Parts: sequence; C-alpha cells; structure tokens
Amino acid sequence: MPIVTNLNNIKSSLPEHVTLVAVSKTKPNADILEAYNAGQRIFGENKIQEMAEKWEQMPKDIQWHMIGHVQTNKVKYMAPFVSLVHGVDSFKLLKEINKQAAKNNRIIDCLLQVFIAEEETKFGLDEKELNEILISEEFKELKNIKIVGLMGMATFTDNQTQIEKEFKNLKAIFDKLKTENYQLNTLSMGMSGDYKLAISCGSTMVRIGSSIFGGRN
Ligand SMILES: *Cc1c(COP(=O)(O)O)cnc(C)c1O
Repeated sequence: MPIVTNLNNIKSSLPEHVTLVAVSKTKPNADILEAYNAGQRIFGENKIQEMAEKWEQMPKDIQWHMIGHVQTNKVKYMAPFVSLVHGVDSFKLLKEINKQAAKNNRIIDCLLQVFIAEEETKFGLDEKELNEILISEEFKELKNIKIVGLMGMATFTDNQTQIEKEFKNLKAIFDKLKTENYQLNTLSMGMSGDYKLAISCGSTMVRIGSSIFGGRN
C-alpha cells in the first residue's frame, strides 16, 4: 500500500487523545516527504546522526522524536532541535541532555524509559530507579529538561496476554507517578504489531514504523 494510504488508515483508527509518531528510521527523505505532504509532522528516529541529517534536509516544522537508545556523547548533535527524547534510561543521560539543552537555550522534553519486558536486551529503568531519580534534589536542579511522561517496550512475543500484562504494568506505574504530582501527560507505548493493545491499556503516544513505511531491511 502507498505510504499515504497506510498513514490515513492508522490515523483514522487512533482515538483523539493518542499521538502518532511516524517512525522513519532507515527510510529515505522521499518517504518522509510523502507522509509530510499528507499532514504528518511528528517523526521518530533511533540514530542521532541519521536524525540530524534528516533535520537539516527536511522541512523545519517537523518535530523529531528520538526513540532509540541514546549515547551520552551524541546528545550534543540533537540538542539544537530534538522535540522529545523517549529513551532516557539513566540520570547521567538526563544530566547531559540538561547540559546540552542549556547550551542551546532550550528546555528539552523527555520520557523516562521503563523496563517492562522479560528480555535482557531492552533498556530502561525499574520502578525503584525511576523513583530515585524523580525524588532526588539533583533532579530538581535540572532546569533545561522536563519529564513529560514514560516510555516502554513490551517483550517481543506473540503472546498477547504477556504483552497486555506488561503494558498494564507500565500504565499503573504512570498513574501512580501522576498522583504524586509530577507533570506527566505522555505514555509512549505501542508499535506496529501491538499499538491497538497498547491504546486499550492506556497509551497516549504510539510509535509506528513498518505499518506506515513498509518493512526495513
Ligand atoms: C523501530 C521502532 C519502533 C517502530 O517499530 P515498527 O514495528 O516498525 O512499528 C517503535 N519504537 C522503537 C523504540 C523503535 O526502535
């Protein structure tokens, strides 16, 4: 199916309160422009250098989301323009984003990535680490970052019951933090294969790549 058809099908299936991040990693500028011309403005990338190149070449009203694992030494390349960093999984990284945001006179929105999957390979904080960051004095002094929510990835499995359990776990953590008065409004969970389930479990932001742009090599 053409990109525009895929995009419109997905958009029409999303509830009003759910934001679509079109994941364009590895895809050429021409593909991004097709989605852009159909009205899409939020794109997600998982490599900082690739995202920075696309930012230079593409229309300036695109909001670029960094959805992948972030290496501290590369934060400086995205700090001038990145609109949301999904994968913040350490205090060290948060401090570096704060530092580079300050250099650019910006406040950068971030999501803390929570580990909800069974696999060893997925990045993220556990609930204890999450709380430790959020209550620390050092965190309160970071004036150039804003934590706006949480992000998580379910286990790569066909077992819907397990995925649902993991999404519901993340939603429960999110709701609990919200009652503790943090400024949280975004719960990023759900990809091509599981976004409907994620939405039914409370997701407010889905990251969809292959169902829009086709498979990646
Ligand atoms: C690639 C990627 C996606 C999109 O995956 P699809 O299955 O192609 O929709 C979502 N989130 C993250 C973190 C990714 O790296």
